[in-house]
Amino acid sequence: MGKALLLDCDGVLADTEEFGHLVAFNQVFDEFGYPFRWSKEEYARLLKVGGGKERVRAYATATGVDLGFDGDLVVASTAIHRRKTEIYIELVTTGRLPERPGIRRLVDEVLDAGWTVAVASTSALESVRSVLRAVVDPEAFARVAGIFAGDVVENKKPAPDVYLLALDALGLDPADTVVIEDSEAGAAAAHAAGLKHLVTLSSFTGTDAFPDATAVVDSLGDPGVPVRVQDGLDVRNAAGLIDRASLERILAS
Ligand SMILES: [Mg+2]
Repeated sequence: MGKALLLDCDGVLADTEEFGHLVAFNQVFDEFGYPFRWSKEEYARLLKVGGGKERVRAYATATGVDLGFDGDLVVASTAIHRRKTEIYIELVTTGRLPERPGIRRLVDEVLDAGWTVAVASTSALESVRSVLRAVVDPEAFARVAGIFAGDVVENKKPAPDVYLLALDALGLDPADTVVIEDSEAGAAAAHAAGLKHLVTLSSFTGTDAFPDATAVVDSLGDPGVPVRVQDGLDVRNAAGLIDRASLERILAS
C-alpha cells in the first residue's frame, strides 16, 4: 500500500462552522421569529458544547430566552435543529459554502500521484459527503477511497476510533498516512491513532493546543493566498504553499 492522506471535514475542507452552521442557526432564528441572533463571539463560546440541539438548549438556559413550544426545551431544540440541518445541507449543496484555500489543489495533486485519500469525521455522513462533493472536482470525488463519518464509531474524536477504522478498512500503513486536522480534538485523535498530522487553523480553533502536530499553518495556501507557519516545521514549497512534497516531509519527520 502506498501513501495516504486522511482529511477531517469541518474546518479542513471548508470553514463549516462560521460559513455554514452559524449562518444556518441564525436563519432558523429569523424564520422562527426569535429576536436574537448569534454573533461569531457568542458562537465561539457555544462551540464548547458538543451537538447542535445541546448548544441551543445551553443558550436558552443561560439567557432565559423564550423559544416557544410551551417552554419545552427538548421539543424546541429538536425543531430548531431539524430545520437548521435542512438549511445547512442546502447551503452546502448550492455551493454557498466556500472551500478552504488549497484543498482542491492538494487533493488533486496527491490523487494524481497515486495516494489514497479519505475523509474521517464525526459529523453526520450526509453533511460530510455534501461538503466533500462541494469542495473537490467530481472526478476527484469519485476517486476518494472512503468517507468515515457519523456514528460509524462509538467514541468520537478526540478518541482515535474513526482514524483506526479508516486505517483498517483501507489497509493503510500508519507510517505512510498523514492527517490534516483543524482542532485540538481532531489532532488528539490523529495522534492517539499513531498518525503524523498537519494542522490548518480554522475560524474557531486559533487558540487550541496542538502539542503533537508536525506543523501548524493558517491554511494550505493557493496562488495569491500565501501560507503562514504558526508552529512546528516549515514544510512549505518554494511558492510558499503546502503541496504533496510538504506532506512527504511531514511523514519523513
Ligand atoms: Mg474539524
